[in-house]
Amino acid sequence: MKKVLYEELLPEECVQRIKEMPVAYLPLGTLEWHGPHMPLGADGIQSKELFVRVAEKVGGVVLPMLFMGPDRLFDDRGTVFYGMDINTEGALNTYYAQQMKGSAYWMEKGLFQDLLRSIFAQLSRAGVRIVVGHGHGPSTNTFQEMKEEAEEKYGLCIMTAWTYADDERLKYQNDHAGANETSIVMAVRPELVDFGQVKEDESNLIGIAGRHPVRESSEAYGNEILEYTMKTLIAGIEKEYKTIKER
Ligand SMILES: [Zn+2]
Repeated sequence: MKKVLYEELLPEECVQRIKEMPVAYLPLGTLEWHGPHMPLGADGIQSKELFVRVAEKVGGVVLPMLFMGPDRLFDDRGTVFYGMDINTEGALNTYYAQQMKGSAYWMEKGLFQDLLRSIFAQLSRAGVRIVVGHGHGPSTNTFQEMKEEAEEKYGLCIMTAWTYADDERLKYQNDHAGANETSIVMAVRPELVDFGQVKEDESNLIGIAGRHPVRESSEAYGNEILEYTMKTLIAGIEKEYKTIKER
């Protein structure tokens, strides 16, 4: 097993890895309710596990995961709700707006953009030319929106695990704790999924968007998503790296 986690590398190892393939991977995590059956860090866990596998194959370094990120906000006269606290159109079962258990991740979008700007500046200085960010939906979208700025100000090409993936069924983390995300965690960290936590009447199966996580998830589907994403992402990185080298 190759060492790919930035924080575990010795200075010379880090310089060498970035020289060989100047890519850094940023898992955009949260500590956020993902149904009763999934870990609170599901977003960062899924992207980190993907990035470790991609880095082992194509090179580059995997950054520590972030756990703060932006999301929808609803201020009910002083009581603030975030993201899945509020019932949304795509929700599997309807429920009252409520503070979902364990969630502690929200930060204002402008601050998050500033955090990404600092990360871009520091990575660029360390020799990185491509940054792959992925995870929590709103964080991933905010990251992607900064593509032009990253290029112009920091000389970085940025991409997500969705940039080169067009098969909707196999897009990595395209629901919220539904069959897509649940299957991915079953594939990459099976010991962290516990369907025994779901009540018989499914009354705690709330704050979920997507297909039914218990009935429609499988490790096989998760592996299919993982393999498709690795293939498309590696091809995308190699394509961008070639363009950078030719410049
Ligand atoms: Zn998620």
